[in-house]
Amino acid sequence: MFLLGHSCWSYIFSKLTGREVKVNLPAYMALLAGVLPDFDIYFKPLIQHHTYTHSLIILLPICAVLTIRFKGLGLAFSAGILSHLAGDSIVGTIPPLYPLSDFQLGISLGLPGPVDTALEVGALGLVLVLAYLNGDYKLVTEPHRESVYLVIPMVSIVTLTLLFAGDNYVSLAALAFSRKALTLITIGHAALIGTLGLGVFQGVRAIIAHRKQTRPASSSPTAECTTARVYSTE
Ligand SMILES: [Zn+2]
Repeated sequence: MFLLGHSCWSYIFSKLTGREVKVNLPAYMALLAGVLPDFDIYFKPLIQHHTYTHSLIILLPICAVLTIRFKGLGLAFSAGILSHLAGDSIVGTIPPLYPLSDFQLGISLGLPGPVDTALEVGALGLVLVLAYLNGDYKLVTEPHRESVYLVIPMVSIVTLTLLFAGDNYVSLAALAFSRKALTLITIGHAALIGTLGLGVFQGVRAIIAHRKQTRPASSSPTAECTTARVYSTE
């Protein structure tokens, strides 16, 4: 599955799990959790793609620790991480027992393929509905400082997609226009990235407005403001 589907299914599973246990996982985290297993692409020669980070015997203990440490938030985040393995095992296979065994689990419906396309584009549609219902859409339509964190899933999705394409010697134009299924997925990626980009823009807007607002009042250097915290993460 491509990162469009992974981030969208992660958002759906994290948010629905969070709702069950009455926590509100921030949107950027819900979108990021399901992208994390593919971070192995960043460590390409060091870690083989689709091995350690797609193994149940490695991810389940990590999810257990997250849930014990962060309770409901950890559980919701874990649901997003594990949705990645579910997605990959539908369109391909995953090695659930790696590194103990190379045994592959999955129903391999094909990537790219019509089922994958339906799952990826369908997930994006569901995310839009869910974000409308839970109010997350306001991160994109109004200036909110926390929207700036959407830059994290956005940059991850863009860089991993580029690295993945480069890694497989696929020219991006060929990837985008070779097959109908892929074209739909390309449009879906562009729509998601565009939406996240708009959110980041709203976040930056809110931070600038907040700074302007607080500047005249805060002549003392001790004035606490979350803006500083936001900036320090850059
Ligand atoms: Zn994967």
